[in-house]
Amino acid sequence: MYLKKIKIPYHVQQYEALSRRLTPVVPRTDAESRFKKGMAGYRGERSLDYLLSALPDKEFFIIHNLRLSNGSRYFQIDFLILCPRFFLILEVKNIMGTLIFDTELSQLIRELDQTTDVFDDPISQAENLNVQLIEWLDVHGGSPALPVADRVVIASPARLQVTDLKDLRIKKIVRKSNLTRELMNLNRQCFKKSLDIGSVEKMARTLLLQHQPRIIDLFSFSSVRRSDIIRGVQCPDCGFFPMKRENGIWHCTSCGHVSKTAHIAAFRDYFLIFGPVITNRQCRDFLILESAVIAKKLLQTVSLHYRGEKRTRIYYLSFQLLIDKSSDEREAPWDENPVQQQITDRKPRGPKNV
Ligand SMILES: [Zn+2]
Repeated sequence: MYLKKIKIPYHVQQYEALSRRLTPVVPRTDAESRFKKGMAGYRGERSLDYLLSALPDKEFFIIHNLRLSNGSRYFQIDFLILCPRFFLILEVKNIMGTLIFDTELSQLIRELDQTTDVFDDPISQAENLNVQLIEWLDVHGGSPALPVADRVVIASPARLQVTDLKDLRIKKIVRKSNLTRELMNLNRQCFKKSLDIGSVEKMARTLLLQHQPRIIDLFSFSSVRRSDIIRGVQCPDCGFFPMKRENGIWHCTSCGHVSKTAHIAAFRDYFLIFGPVITNRQCRDFLILESAVIAKKLLQTVSLHYRGEKRTRIYYLSFQLLIDKSSDEREAPWDENPVQQQITDRKPRGPKNV
């Protein structure tokens, strides 16, 4: 069973919001290419869902996109599968073209449309994750005394080549269609020790509690300034900025589309770009609204709590409320219920120019 479902990682959503809202004078290629790369990875992982969800619920615990800290460094695992006989790290690659695994030089070469790209060797990546996970387990609650295996799963229909057929490490490369068989093989090989299922679940939940989603400070990763962000509610039909609010409804002056809820996506973009803290004035500035009363009404529908009174009041947007009605599964930056304190302790990071 999934302990953490497959969702679009939080930082990928941040790149998406940024590439949607950069003013035309700012080159958007960096944010856009990071978003596209992130989504390609997510789609590759998503494509394993039907295989992983078919695993017996009472035997396998699955955590998608687990990011842990080893002191000063973070490491991120695409999938961690825990069962009574072994732990398994899956490093998923969703790359098209011809993939040449050069294990001697630790590189992955991709040929596509007469161009050649070189990537880090995913086998070494998966092995490094293995080392880091074992280190982490040693520090937090003790080693499980179970084998920790790692595999590279090719989710795309890429053509595969290897430079050294004798290198046994290439056996770690698994095509998506062979993943279930590989799991069964591991189950047969790792027979020497086994934990009771309760201990496995406890270990999985300990790992999950320490998960820290990647949150990017978009204003420090590039030369983007706060004033480069396009304000206003975007038309969900034609993409035009900004929609105008009249009689409780958002109107698009470009295509004529009307919407009652178009501000929700704008609040979500605000959250992803600036963080959860927002004042009435910042809300009016971002949504291009004149009425403080309407801004207050809208803020109350997308916030779980606030601090302060009247003009100094600060609202804390709820990511959960903002994604509840979206069609894709999206990762939230934190669990809003049990760790409310995390939210209230964050410093306001709204635009400076309002
Ligand atoms: Zn429109």
